[in-house]
Amino acid sequence: MNKTLARLLTPLLASGALLAAGAVQAQAPVIDHMDPPFWWAGMQHKGLQLMVHGPAIAALEPTLSYPGVRIAAVSRVASKNYLFIDLLVDADARPGSFDIVFKGADGRSTTYAYKLLAREPGSSQRKGFDTKDAIYQIMPDRFANGITANDSVAGLPDKLDRKLGHGRHGGDIQGIIDHLDYVEGLGFTQLWPTPLVENDMPAASYHGYAATDLYKIDPRYGSNEDFKRLSTEARKHGIGLIQDVVLSHIGLNHWWMKDLPTPDWINHPGTFVATRHAHTAVHDPYASKEDADNFTTGWFSPGMPDMNQTNPYVANYLIQNNIWWIEYAGLSGLRIDTFGYSDGGFLSEYTRRLMQEYPNLNMVGEEWSKLPSLVSHWQRGKVNFNGYVSSMPSLMDFPLTEAMRDALAKKDGGNIFTDVYETLSQDYLYPDPKRLVLFEGNHDTARIFSVVNEDYDRYRMDIAFVMTMPRIPHFYTGDELLMTSTVGTRDDNSYRHDFPGGWAGDKVNAFTGAGLTARQRTAQDFVRKLVTWRKNSPVIHDGKLMHYAPENNTWVYFRYDEQARGVKKVMVAMNANAKEMVLPAVRFHEMLDGVASGRDVLSGKTYTLKDEIRLPAKSVLILEL
Ligand code: CA
Ligand code: CA
Repeated sequence: MNKTLARLLTPLLASGALLAAGAVQAQAPVIDHMDPPFWWAGMQHKGLQLMVHGPAIAALEPTLSYPGVRIAAVSRVASKNYLFIDLLVDADARPGSFDIVFKGADGRSTTYAYKLLAREPGSSQRKGFDTKDAIYQIMPDRFANGITANDSVAGLPDKLDRKLGHGRHGGDIQGIIDHLDYVEGLGFTQLWPTPLVENDMPAASYHGYAATDLYKIDPRYGSNEDFKRLSTEARKHGIGLIQDVVLSHIGLNHWWMKDLPTPDWINHPGTFVATRHAHTAVHDPYASKEDADNFTTGWFSPGMPDMNQTNPYVANYLIQNNIWWIEYAGLSGLRIDTFGYSDGGFLSEYTRRLMQEYPNLNMVGEEWSKLPSLVSHWQRGKVNFNGYVSSMPSLMDFPLTEAMRDALAKKDGGNIFTDVYETLSQDYLYPDPKRLVLFEGNHDTARIFSVVNEDYDRYRMDIAFVMTMPRIPHFYTGDELLMTSTVGTRDDNSYRHDFPGGWAGDKVNAFTGAGLTARQRTAQDFVRKLVTWRKNSPVIHDGKLMHYAPENNTWVYFRYDEQARGVKKVMVAMNANAKEMVLPAVRFHEMLDGVASGRDVLSGKTYTLKDEIRLPAKSVLILEL
């Protein structure tokens, strides 16, 4: 029995459904995949398209009888091993189970017991992550090994090898659950694990971005039930779960690749053609059609076939798959990988459908570009010159993130913060800049501590910046421990070291603090204090921003909100010089009139703000006024 069949058999047998009926068992039709495997009553969108996969399944005719559910269409495609069944599920259809009976002209038949589950109360109105939140990102394979028995799994060739930078290191869902108290203790309220779905690839499968079954958690991480349990347990710690999804590509060993439903299922029909990564071609008035097409149809890598979402079956599959996970696992949002690489028309429809189903959900897309004009192109509400419409609430703020990382990486320079200041001035391009996710680093970038040349003071400036901007902040695990990496040339292995304390026998344990250096402990305390303070600072969540042009390697900005509970004004001041800088207070009169002093939330010290402001050498102050 293959593993995908085993996945299907479990619910089938449990529900008492007949796998096959007929005199000759060997000839009985078999269903290898039914996607989605179940659904819910009471969804906004009434259509549901089932992909049924099994040997010669197209020769069978499906029927069902259930109040409020009917078959609107049955479609057959190039491969005889697929059937697409369009169901219409009325608003008054009750939760329950019904048999879909597949019959052939030769008398062969089989049955699938399809379930419509009841939705969790409030499911459609669930609230996604927003500016009140702070996101903690982990790579599950590298965070904590909760169960050693699943480190290598029979049938999956990529086995445990902790010596290998791109090998599997054994981290899993149980390891995350075991350390939710640590994440909560740091003050974070959202958790983004990189993808956990099955990646049955021969090597380097740990990163999760080469899915081989979009409905199945990789057994080296756990089961679908474990993923759902992670969400439930996280919620008990005040933490929402964000699922990382990939719409643009799959892994080369995805089960579809052995038997494509249609020749056009994969772009460049099934053979590798590289994308030239011309991100801007999606809205470049001078772009050649060649480049625009290549950007979205080219493959990300030879091991990652690029899906053709202009095929309506592909589009439906992906939309339903993402809704299925949100509903099944109780997610607070999605992080969408390589966002712009998918077909633009599909992304319009995908975002519309997701937001129609969950109007208050948040989804953040990865558009790795330094151009606010391009990132804003994708945000909901943007009036694009080419008429492009998106319903995407949030994007990763690569422009502002990289401007600050670049600024703090400069060894000298008379005014390092200028590019950050100027990038912020572009916020008018975004319909909703506060919904952008700002970060200090992620699994694809050099560690911030290395980027700032291991200058702890500059590290503090970056983290303070991320936590006080009018944005949703995102933090990459390990940066609270000053983890280091290669800088310059891309070196994923160096960005993704194991989290100390996640493995039995680790000499250093960051969860307990045992074995951390004094400086690491100081950094961890700093992050904990800052993120916890932010969590309880409405003026940072909702306040306005006023910033002042940087001068002589100093930069000052204010967050303010007269309506805020508690503190109504916060001043952030950075001094990247190796000496104290004295700023005349009068320059900031719009914000400082009537203010005599401010208290630094990090040190607790009070700073006078009358006449002149003394910024200590290499410092960031966060002053509550
Ligand atoms: Ca494990
Ligand atoms: Ca693509």
